[in-house]
Amino acid sequence: MGKKLIVGNWKMNGLVADGLKRASDIAAAAKAGLSGQMVLCPPATLIGAVSAVLQGSGIATGGQDCHDKPSGAYTGNISAPMLKDIGCAYVILGHSERRLYERETDNQIAAKAQAAHAAGLIAIICVGESDAERSSGKAGEIVSRQLQGSIPEGASEKNTVIAYEPVWAIGTGKVASTADIADMHALIRTKAGVLPILYGGSVKADNAQEILRIANVDGVLVGGASLKAEDFIAIAKAAP
Ligand code: PEP
Repeated sequence: MGKKLIVGNWKMNGLVADGLKRASDIAAAAKAGLSGQMVLCPPATLIGAVSAVLQGSGIATGGQDCHDKPSGAYTGNISAPMLKDIGCAYVILGHSERRLYERETDNQIAAKAQAAHAAGLIAIICVGESDAERSSGKAGEIVSRQLQGSIPEGASEKNTVIAYEPVWAIGTGKVASTADIADMHALIRTKAGVLPILYGGSVKADNAQEILRIANVDGVLVGGASLKAEDFIAIAKAAP
């Protein structure tokens, strides 16, 4: 893989004014020159406007989820072609918050990834173990099962990215150790082949450089620290 991928997941945060200000501050920094490939994933309400602000900056836009059907009677949902239509190049799928609160299964995530591919989007498929699963020595087994179930046929390095996000490290300030990240990414590499692999879980400006230097870490997925333009820019600057 070439450039490191630096993905910001804004989750359910941002009204028009602050979202667009953040996007334009990040775009200005990118135009001044950053080595990583940045992707911003705003809430659905802001994707179209953020995509417009990012035009010409080299930063891509992504959704945070999509339905597995292209259209139809699915009130409240958003399809992959709709995301593509408003400027997305990426979509995050199977984030642990969706696996937990929306009870998404590996099968559903695979179907969504297939829909994303059909629409010409790059699927960022999230996997990761819980605290209890890691404590009981099952992290590798759980992540392997999630990979097996949620990567669809036809996945390639052109249309799929894996994000390893230990659930206990998301939004908690706890970061997996360098050795644990290296071990899990090496395991994922054996299952996911050439697919790029991101690490996510409390990535901040002060730990990004160390994380981005670990073998098989092709980029980072950033939640909390992507909500402040200067923090996200600092993470992107840490990319070699
Ligand atoms: C995430 O939600 O994908 C994430 C990694 O969040 P945070 O950076 O806040 O831990």
